[in-house]
Amino acid sequence: MPNDAFDCDVLVVGLGPVGAATAALLARRGASVIAVERDTVVYPLPRAVHFDHEIMRLFQQLGIADEVARHSVPVPPYEFRTADGRLLMSFPADLEAASGWAGGYMFHQPSLESALRDILATEPQAAVRLGWRFEALAQDADGVTARINGPGGPADIRARYLVGCDGASSPVRQAIGGTLSDYGFDEPWLVVDVNVQPGARTPPVNLQVCDPERPTTCVMAGPGRHRWEFMLLPGETTDDVLKDGFIERLLLPWDCGPVEIERRAVYRFHGLVAEHWRAGRVLLAGDAAHQTPPFAGQGMCSGLRDAANLAWKLDAVLTGQADEALLDTYQPEREPHARSLIELAIGMGQIVCTLDRAAAAARDSEMLARRAAGAPSLPPLRTAPFADGCILGGSAGAGELFPQPTCGQGPRRLRLDDGLGDGPWLISRRPAVGAPGITLRNLDEPSLAPFRAHLLRWLDAHAAEAVLVRPDRYVFGTGEPSALADAWAIALKPLARAA
Ligand SMILES: Cc1cc2nc3c(=O)[nH]c(=O)nc-3n(C[C@H](O)[C@H](O)[C@H](O)COP(=O)(O)OP(=O)(O)OC[C@H]3O[C@@H](n4cnc5c(N)ncnc54)[C@H](O)[C@@H]3O)c2cc1C
Repeated sequence: MPNDAFDCDVLVVGLGPVGAATAALLARRGASVIAVERDTVVYPLPRAVHFDHEIMRLFQQLGIADEVARHSVPVPPYEFRTADGRLLMSFPADLEAASGWAGGYMFHQPSLESALRDILATEPQAAVRLGWRFEALAQDADGVTARINGPGGPADIRARYLVGCDGASSPVRQAIGGTLSDYGFDEPWLVVDVNVQPGARTPPVNLQVCDPERPTTCVMAGPGRHRWEFMLLPGETTDDVLKDGFIERLLLPWDCGPVEIERRAVYRFHGLVAEHWRAGRVLLAGDAAHQTPPFAGQGMCSGLRDAANLAWKLDAVLTGQADEALLDTYQPEREPHARSLIELAIGMGQIVCTLDRAAAAARDSEMLARRAAGAPSLPPLRTAPFADGCILGGSAGAGELFPQPTCGQGPRRLRLDDGLGDGPWLISRRPAVGAPGITLRNLDEPSLAPFRAHLLRWLDAHAAEAVLVRPDRYVFGTGEPSALADAWAIALKPLARAA
């Protein structure tokens, strides 16, 4: 808890989606948080348009799932097609994914960011300072002092930890001398967002048109909105492609009827990862730590997974439940996950961004032949379990995302997490002895009755008596309940146990 020497437990720099989620998750757990943002209003135009089921589960935890759902539509099938419309590969829509929500959603980013800020405003432990720009930091053994330039001039904020959620150019990353490793993917694309008017004929699926004459993306962007992305061709400049006439010519073949252009912008799509996500008491999350091309719709999702991973660990350290060494598990858990999604997106980008006609024809023949030979549609996106970090290595299921069973339909639908709360859970087949700080449940309890069959199947599939689920809903490990509780205590406080 902060004392006179500290203004807050955690200073969050940057209030994009990742900073707002990090601050809200920390404040919910009781940490005192100051969040500073250089801009005075939410950035009004969307960048991300897709998030996945795991992220909707995080919004559920934050209490904003219903509000976010108002600005979202479940993700439709995602198809890669040739220039003349033949199907190269597809990801089917997934109406019920592991996290208890649809596989993904197409959404309006400013509405999401407003919902996150609204929930943050209800947290008495959080203070938001808009129009405050982070400039520099110094750290010592006990904390971090940040120089912030606010409306009243420069001021220092002293915190136990600082999380840089300050986006791709991240002044916090620069302040800790952070360097980026580069995947060498760097493609310029024009993004055109439209408001869809009544009578419009926008495609009911998300599309990558693998046309060497003009690689093109066409996707839903939340209720009443649609997005096109057009790759720039050699010799085209940003000024050329932003002109009205140019964009009208690009949209003409789509014959989509009445749509109104809301914005146009040119982005460079690239894959970058910071070498170090932690320097002492300073940590990086979101685009400050990694950036991806958008072909898998996962940049913000990766950042929000960072927030979920970091928030419970920082809270455990701040409350003395864990040694500071727990923070060393943040990057080893999150980096391989983020990299796998960057590599997936670059792989997709390499399929789409082929400008050489002969190479495109060869790609088409190969992918069409594979489909003709019966190659199935691609499975829903799944990432590998953590290989390292705060898990009980060697136990079945360790490091996997734990599913969220559901029961019922519509507004009366029950979801497991709602009854179990924010902390770690130990779910066992039979009654077991408790451990401090862990929510203990057994399958015979009435509160688990709606989910019993699902949970039993999971335990059977992992040949486990019990499972310990971390606060970010990843599996710590499986085994006997008392052994799991002991292993959890050791994982959080290895130094105390060794002493
Ligand atoms: C065209 C495009 C399409 C995309 N599509 C998707 C998608 O479909 N799905 C998906 O998951 N992701 C997508 N992304 C990626 C996604 O938009 C980003 O990953 C996400 O917005 C990053 O969030 P963030 O909070 O880390 O950073 P940002 O949203 O960049 O927020 C950083 C914040 O820090 C503030 N800041 C910066 N410097 C300072 C300072 N010195 N002091 C105080 N505040 C500061 C900024 O003002 C900003 O508000 C897409 C990106 C693009 C460009």
